[in-house]
Amino acid sequence: MEAIKVYMEHISRRDMLTKAGLVGTTLAAGLPLAVSNVQAKETSSTKPKLKVIVTGGHPGDPEYGCGGTIVRYSDLGHEVVLLYLNEGDPPEKSGPKGLRVAEAAKSCDLLKARPAYAGQIDGQAIVDPAHYNKFRQLLEAERPDVVFTHWPIDNHADHRAMSLLVYDAWLRLGRTFALYYYEVSSGEDTLQFAPTHFVDITNAEPRKRSACYAHASQAPDKFYALQESVARFRGIESGYKQAEAFIRHVQSPDFTLPRAS
Ligand SMILES: [Zn+2]
Repeated sequence: MEAIKVYMEHISRRDMLTKAGLVGTTLAAGLPLAVSNVQAKETSSTKPKLKVIVTGGHPGDPEYGCGGTIVRYSDLGHEVVLLYLNEGDPPEKSGPKGLRVAEAAKSCDLLKARPAYAGQIDGQAIVDPAHYNKFRQLLEAERPDVVFTHWPIDNHADHRAMSLLVYDAWLRLGRTFALYYYEVSSGEDTLQFAPTHFVDITNAEPRKRSACYAHASQAPDKFYALQESVARFRGIESGYKQAEAFIRHVQSPDFTLPRAS
């Protein structure tokens, strides 16, 4: 009964906030998550389900930068898609074909997420009108509630390309979904990242680690150690043991990060 009572209180509070046009993270403390106005209307009698898309230049980027947050979302029953710009290796690379895609499939399985690919080539990212259009159509078809992407100041051209493709799509689709930036391999890739939001990943960290280590061909001992240092530092900043940090675009709808520990 207590759980039902709490849920009903959340519903009535959410309705109140929706009517006032004030649904947002600053007012959502204590909620498992906040929802958009549209979802609140469409799902008044059921728990809302969000469509979450985490984009990355390569297989592994979403997992390293947002793996804990992905676990939090999928454990709450939301649909999570990991959208990679390319398949991780250029076509001419020697060795077993499809290895990176197979690793991504295993990683997504651990995270209860679905892999998807934007069809570009590793190390040869193209950002031009045709690719902006193609990527926008891809995102539009997925109808996301929230999208995560690379912070654009990044030393890897594929990461920068993904950030620009997402940003252009977000603008052209009318800023209709929440837009967050994440950091990956800070110092080596992401630079000058000053977070606005944090997600506690302390309990989610073991599954994040497993998902990152599923990319076994990508030196996980080295790169996970770096990312874990970042998560511990972001935890110190935000008051958790480990956290992931984000920058929300200033014009983004301000909802949909997991809030509860
Ligand atoms: Zn990458």
